Amino acid sequence: MTTLIPFDDRDGYIWMDGKMLPWRDATMHVLSHGLHYGSSVFEGERVYGGTIFKLREHSERLIRSGEMLDFKIPMTLKEIEDVSREVVEANKITDGYVRPVAWRGSEQMAVSAPLATIHVAFACWQWPKYFFPKAGENKGLALKTSEWRRPDPRTMPVQSKASGIYTIGTLAKHAADKAGYDDALLLDYKGRVAESSGSNLFAVKDGMLKTPVPECFLNGITRQTIIKLARDMGYKVEETIIMPEELADFDEIFVTGTAAEVAAVGKIDDIEYEIGPITKALEKAYGDLVRQKPKTTAAA
Ligand code: PMP
Repeated sequence: MTTLIPFDDRDGYIWMDGKMLPWRDATMHVLSHGLHYGSSVFEGERVYGGTIFKLREHSERLIRSGEMLDFKIPMTLKEIEDVSREVVEANKITDGYVRPVAWRGSEQMAVSAPLATIHVAFACWQWPKYFFPKAGENKGLALKTSEWRRPDPRTMPVQSKASGIYTIGTLAKHAADKAGYDDALLLDYKGRVAESSGSNLFAVKDGMLKTPVPECFLNGITRQTIIKLARDMGYKVEETIIMPEELADFDEIFVTGTAAEVAAVGKIDDIEYEIGPITKALEKAYGDLVRQKPKTTAAA
């Protein structure tokens, strides 16, 4: 049995509402709008060799995610970036994960809460890997098509990394896990292939990559990085509609995400895939890219 180390009972520091607090003191009130009505947004960032990969993109998305929930994070982009780096340093993390989160506070306890204070916190912890495929590393991930679907983009702002929308992913992943799979494959409200519970999907056929159009799920930062990386490496990448009936025709499937990185898929329901050369090449290229030190601009 795995021993869980609860996230509220650890050593370290969490920055919250302007102060770097001892980890266990970073608490909030039970009557918070964010908790009751899901008015909360977050980010997930990886630290490689002490540097946060794509910090600018994640920080901008955090701000945009709040705006999409009709709130303004009370920090500038620079403050968000500075604090993100401070928590990494305070927790002495060289390879890990940063979790910024912003939520509506306690001033109003009803659906509408325009006067609620927006709180912000940043935590950081060690996190070597996201996926440990049940069938073993050389078999890849097993995905099970979920009964749950990604919603019509008119249902909620799907490009916001809003906590509320993660209900879908949690339910889908719990069901996949109970059935012995590693993760869920979610179709969308029109029955098209969308993504996994927490990462985007790519499929390879005859040396060419295809990935679903992010109409009703996050256009992941890793997804965008992989599209560019693959094109730079000379591969053709098409953003297109993929129907579940087409899945059996692909040679390779992999998923991408900040936490997941590039992870090969070995099985979707009863269809099996080899971990192919393009997945391996992109996994390696992404691994090299994230560990590249950003070029520092010479002082003027
Ligand atoms: N889809 C979902 C549902 C996610 O939670 C994530 C992780 N943020 C992604 C896709 C991938 O996004 P990113 O590459 O920006 O981490």
